Amino acid sequence: MSDAWLWVLVGLAAAIAAAKFARDGILLRRLVRWARQPVGTPVPDATGRWGEAFLALHKRARKTAEQREQLHEALDRFQQAAQAMPDGVVILGGQLAVEWANAKAEQLLGIDTAHDTGAPIINIVREPQFVAYLQGGQYAMPRLLRSVRSPGQSLQVRAVPFGQGRLMLLVRDITQFERLETMRRDFVANVSHELKTPLTVVSGFIDTLVDGWEDLAPDEARHMLTLAGEQATRMRHLIEDLLTLSALETDAPPQEEQMTMAAVLADVREEAEVLSAGRHEIVLVDHGPSLLLGNPRELRSAFGNLASNAVRYTPAGGRIELLWQGDSSGGATFAVADNGIGVEPQHISRLTERFYRVDRGRSRETGGTGLGLAIVKHVLERHGGRLQVESRPGEGSCFTAHLPARCIVPEPVRSPG
Ligand code: ADP
Repeated sequence: MSDAWLWVLVGLAAAIAAAKFARDGILLRRLVRWARQPVGTPVPDATGRWGEAFLALHKRARKTAEQREQLHEALDRFQQAAQAMPDGVVILGGQLAVEWANAKAEQLLGIDTAHDTGAPIINIVREPQFVAYLQGGQYAMPRLLRSVRSPGQSLQVRAVPFGQGRLMLLVRDITQFERLETMRRDFVANVSHELKTPLTVVSGFIDTLVDGWEDLAPDEARHMLTLAGEQATRMRHLIEDLLTLSALETDAPPQEEQMTMAAVLADVREEAEVLSAGRHEIVLVDHGPSLLLGNPRELRSAFGNLASNAVRYTPAGGRIELLWQGDSSGGATFAVADNGIGVEPQHISRLTERFYRVDRGRSRETGGTGLGLAIVKHVLERHGGRLQVESRPGEGSCFTAHLPARCIVPEPVRSPG
């Protein structure tokens, strides 16, 4: 081969190498530009090895993006779940710094994540018991916290260590639970007290009778037995009322049937007459629907309770009116009005509490258990109704049982003529 040909070949090779170099440069620039674009931008066009490399890079980038998306979704799901929790959740990092808190925790602890993220939680919630609990590091048992922010609110706080030096703080509002617990304790104390008094009297009489049987005149012994019998009756009434209340508190809805009101009202009036023994004027006014849908035993006892209270809290010579009538909303009311001793305004809202009495002595003397109006309230609520009390001390009271329209059985339409 001649030199000339050799130079031609060398020139050609150099030209091809330069073209390839230039193309590589262009593709490399495209690659760099593509890499700077958002993930998902289509790969630049390229053929051959460059094409394969671009495609491989593209697949890798897409996979990374998908993984990141999945992680995001998992984190979102976790945050949504923690956000939806009825309890407060706070994630604390090193130095007890707030990393995240759900809305409930913000509300219960007064955290404002927009400002407080990164700040130590003990700088935000400064209650000494809370600070001592978190700094103490003993997290096996939850801690009760009396909220300073909302007096009367009780919080249960529990720290759960996780990850590396992190804590998950669970905060629960247990105010209602504590209130119920206090009510339960008070109730047990009240019942014990109510039973203890008559029981002491009965056992006192029994001791006297056992020790001095021979020395007692028959009249004296009879008198003691009569008094002991009265106390036993008092205990029986108390236990009956307690059983009634506990039966009413079960969730089972009342077994309802049609009740003929004329018969119910006549019964209630007769019972009041017996209790009054002629000391009061008792008037019955029946303008209401003749049929009622409800539980006869419960409603009969509620109406009877209101009537017997009127007799017991109205001095002799007083007047008691039992009034049954329809109301403007399609329901009906049973009202018991008396001109008795009445109730001071500050007591009215508490009369339906168990064992609440304005005058303990008078209630006991007349055989009261302090549970009557609690029973009435429960019975009416179970029927969708309510109790209304109006009273003036020294002038009298009116206790009204409201029953909703659904308890009223429509009257049959009478054909004319
Ligand atoms: P009690 O067995 O003591 O009568 P209740 O629950 O029936 O219990 O009533 C609670 C309290 O409400 C009574 O102790 C009494 O002080 C007051 N009260 C109820 N009815 C009347 C009334 N008609 N007039 C005045 N006070 C009443």
